[in-house]
Amino acid sequence: MKIKSFPRNDHTNGWYNVLGDQPPAHVLKGDSKADWVIVGGGFSGLAAARRLGELCPDDRVVLLEAGRIGENASGRNSGFVIDLPHAISQEQPEHDLRQIRVNRQAIAWLQELIERHQIRCQWSHRGKVHVSATDKGRRNLKVLASRLSGLGEVAESWDKARLKAYLGTDYFDYGVFTPGCILMQPAALVTGLARSMPANVEIYEESAVSEFSDGATKSLNTAEGQCDNAQGDSGDQRLDTGLWLSRTSAAHHAYLRQPDAAAHETGAG
Ligand SMILES: Cc1cc2nc3c(=O)[nH]c(=O)nc-3n(C[C@H](O)[C@H](O)[C@H](O)COP(=O)(O)OP(=O)(O)OC[C@H]3O[C@@H](n4cnc5c(N)ncnc54)[C@H](O)[C@@H]3O)c2cc1C
Repeated sequence: MKIKSFPRNDHTNGWYNVLGDQPPAHVLKGDSKADWVIVGGGFSGLAAARRLGELCPDDRVVLLEAGRIGENASGRNSGFVIDLPHAISQEQPEHDLRQIRVNRQAIAWLQELIERHQIRCQWSHRGKVHVSATDKGRRNLKVLASRLSGLGEVAESWDKARLKAYLGTDYFDYGVFTPGCILMQPAALVTGLARSMPANVEIYEESAVSEFSDGATKSLNTAEGQCDNAQGDSGDQRLDTGLWLSRTSAAHHAYLRQPDAAAHETGAG
């Protein structure tokens, strides 16, 4: 498969630019082999690389990123790490409660990584406020507050005066504050995560994957390099290939997997 569309970077990501000078990129050059190859160094690719590195300490895990890690969507978003889903359904409270538990577990894991690796990303327990400036917005937010309360969550109603004191503007007349959200500097977080990978994970930047070969030997090509399945096409192995399309971007996370990978996969999260 030839990949025809590549990320275009206008290099205007303020979060990334305020980090200052970054170390030069390691670019994939020449031929190499890996047990696992992950394409894309956003939140998804970095989490997959870390988990594979932890679960398969004897495997070589390679992550290929088209640009610089931190300049992508994961490094240029609004910086909210949310515990509560944006939409709460009335019909499926058990689904919402599960989602909240998963989110909180992920936040705790992230915080543990940040502390362990001393990632300075302005991680701050700020909570968040949903605000409205219209009657319709207020009605919707009251429904949200009531559903959150029904799930046992804290959801404070804030009036115009409280919002003005907190936000500095009197534009909004109603708000719902929930305390569990974290605010952070996204480019600092993703670059920090990339630099604190397990020892068996190698990251190559400015190494856009342009071709993926799904033959007996799986291989990925970049402009200057190639990465093949470490197992080659020998005898009894059972090779399988997966390709994930990221939910919010055109990132591809491809992996070359070994015979026992199904067992690892369930824990890869
Ligand atoms: C304006 C905005 C605000 C947002 N605010 C928030 C927020 O506050 N909180 C939140 O949780 N989420 C927020 N999001 C969503 C969040 O940014 C995304 O969900 C997240 O970045 C997705 O991560 P990802 O790893 O799947 O994709 P990406 O971050 O897009 O990473 C994909 C990577 O793949 C690379 N890539 C693509 N093609 C190739 C190739 N051929 N070879 C090699 N590499 C390749 C790209 O360069 C990129 O680095 C926001 C999004 C936007 C747009």
